[in-house]
Amino acid sequence: MFEDKPNSIALRSVVTCALCGSVERTTIFSEVQDYLYDVPGTFCYVQCSKCAMVFQDPRPAEEELSKCYTSYHTHQTEELPDSFIQEWSGVTRWIRGGILRSKYGYKHFDVSRSEILFSRLLDFVPYVRNRARCGLGVGRGSGLPHFRGSGQALDIGTGAGVYAATLKRLGWNVTGVEFDASAAHVASERMKLNIYVGSLEDAEFGAESFDFVSMFHVIEHLPDPLSTLKECFRVMNNRAKIIIRTPNFNSLTRRVYGKFWRGVEAPRHLFLFSPDTLVKMLERAGFHVTSITTTKGAARFYVQASQKILERESHHSGKSVLNSLRTGALVLAARVGYLLRIKIGDELHIEAVKAD
Ligand SMILES: [Zn+2]
Repeated sequence: MFEDKPNSIALRSVVTCALCGSVERTTIFSEVQDYLYDVPGTFCYVQCSKCAMVFQDPRPAEEELSKCYTSYHTHQTEELPDSFIQEWSGVTRWIRGGILRSKYGYKHFDVSRSEILFSRLLDFVPYVRNRARCGLGVGRGSGLPHFRGSGQALDIGTGAGVYAATLKRLGWNVTGVEFDASAAHVASERMKLNIYVGSLEDAEFGAESFDFVSMFHVIEHLPDPLSTLKECFRVMNNRAKIIIRTPNFNSLTRRVYGKFWRGVEAPRHLFLFSPDTLVKMLERAGFHVTSITTTKGAARFYVQASQKILERESHHSGKSVLNSLRTGALVLAARVGYLLRIKIGDELHIEAVKAD
C-alpha cells in the first residue's frame, strides 16, 4: 500500500518542458514505484503536449537526488577479469591491429601489410568480427569510434570503467566523469583511469579539449540534459563525435509493459527519450546528428527485466507458456525491427558531431 511507503524524497513540480519550454502536458504513468531498489514513494511521468518529451513531474528535488542512489549497486559490482587489462599479443594483436588500423584509423597499431590483409579476410568470420572490435559491436549502433585527432576521449558516467578502459586499450587518452565516488575509485585503481568525481559542469574542462565523447545511460538521469549537452559541445573539438545511449520510450517492450517497463526506472530516470526528442535535444545543443538507431542486443535484457517486475507487482508466477511466448516474440520483433531499421528496440544509440 502507498500509505506504508510515504515519499521520503522531496518532490518538486517541473514548470516548463526542458526541450521546448511548453507548460502543457498529459500524465502517462502515475503511481509508479521504484521496482528495482525500493526507494520509497510513488512517482509520476508526463508527456509534453507540444514536443512529446516524456519526463518525471513532480520529480525529486535536485538536492535530494543522491537519496535515489543509496542502494544503486550496478557500478560497484562490475568486475573485469585480469585478461582485460593485459596487453594483447600474438594473433590477437595483429588481427585487432589490422582491422582497427585499416578500417577505423588507429594508425598507432604497428602491423604489417600482410597482417592487415589477413586480418581483413578473417573479418568475414562473424566470431572474429565482434571480438576484433573488443566486443563493442559491428555496424549500426557499434560503440567503437574512429580514431581522431590526438585521441582525447571523455567518458561521462564512467561507472567502474569498463568502456573507458576499452577506449584506453585502443589508444585513447581517456578522462572519465563519474558522480559515484566508490565507482570512480574502482575505475581509477583497477583500470588506472583518470576520473573526475562530480558532474561534467563542475569539472570545468577547457573548451575544445576532446576528440570523442561517450555518454551511455546517463542523459536520462540528468536534471538538465540540455545544459549538459551544451557543455559537451563546448569541450569538444570541431568535428569531434559524441555517442549517446539511453532507453527508447518508443520501444515495443514499453508499449507492452507500460510503467513496468525496465527503462522507466523511477525515480532515477528523470527523462525518457524517443528517437525524435533525443534528436531534437542534440540539435538544440548545437550538434549535427549523423545517425540514430536502436542497438542490436538490448531487448532481451529489457524484456526479461520488465517481465520480472510485472510478475512481482501482479503476484503472478512466471512459468506460463504464454509468458514465454510473449517475451520470445518481443525479443524477436526488436531484432527484426533492427534489421528493418524500425526503431522499436529498447536502447537508442545516437551519434552526432560538432560541426560549424
Ligand atoms: Zn516540450
